[in-house]
Amino acid sequence: MGERRQFLAVLASACGLTPLILWLAKPSPVETMAETFPVQKSDDDWRRELTPDQYQVLRRHSTERPFTSPLNHEKRDGTFQCAGCGRPLFDQETKFESGTGWPSFWRPLDHAVGTRIDRSLLMVRVEVHCADCGGHLGHVFDDGPPPTGMRYCMNGVAMKFEPKQS
Ligand SMILES: [Zn+2]
Repeated sequence: MGERRQFLAVLASACGLTPLILWLAKPSPVETMAETFPVQKSDDDWRRELTPDQYQVLRRHSTERPFTSPLNHEKRDGTFQCAGCGRPLFDQETKFESGTGWPSFWRPLDHAVGTRIDRSLLMVRVEVHCADCGGHLGHVFDDGPPPTGMRYCMNGVAMKFEPKQS
């Protein structure tokens, strides 16, 4: 068996396939990162404009510690916006208490977010990002409340709250 595997490896490298095999074997945490978004900035610009915590979540797919975001307790009428580009993402009316420690919503505003498959951490999850700047916001799960049954589990640090003007 070992010989056969070795033979195949030799054959593969002889055919110039080694880089392809290595590439296929490399785990890709989030698929289709090559999408383009209306708001385009260099990594340096994002690093300059965002706080370190915002940068780690929005641009590096980090997750904030649960129960740390002040937005967990935000109950006023208004809109949750992307902390990267200001795009309105969620209305207060769709927010609910999920008990997870992250701000949770059962529906985003129309066309506000995009999703992609996230295979990091040995799980298959649906990643949620801002439709305008591609900034990572959180994940969506199908164990939410009516009427949608969806739970958009968001990082509070990736959003800003804009109270409704009365
Ligand atoms: Zn954005």
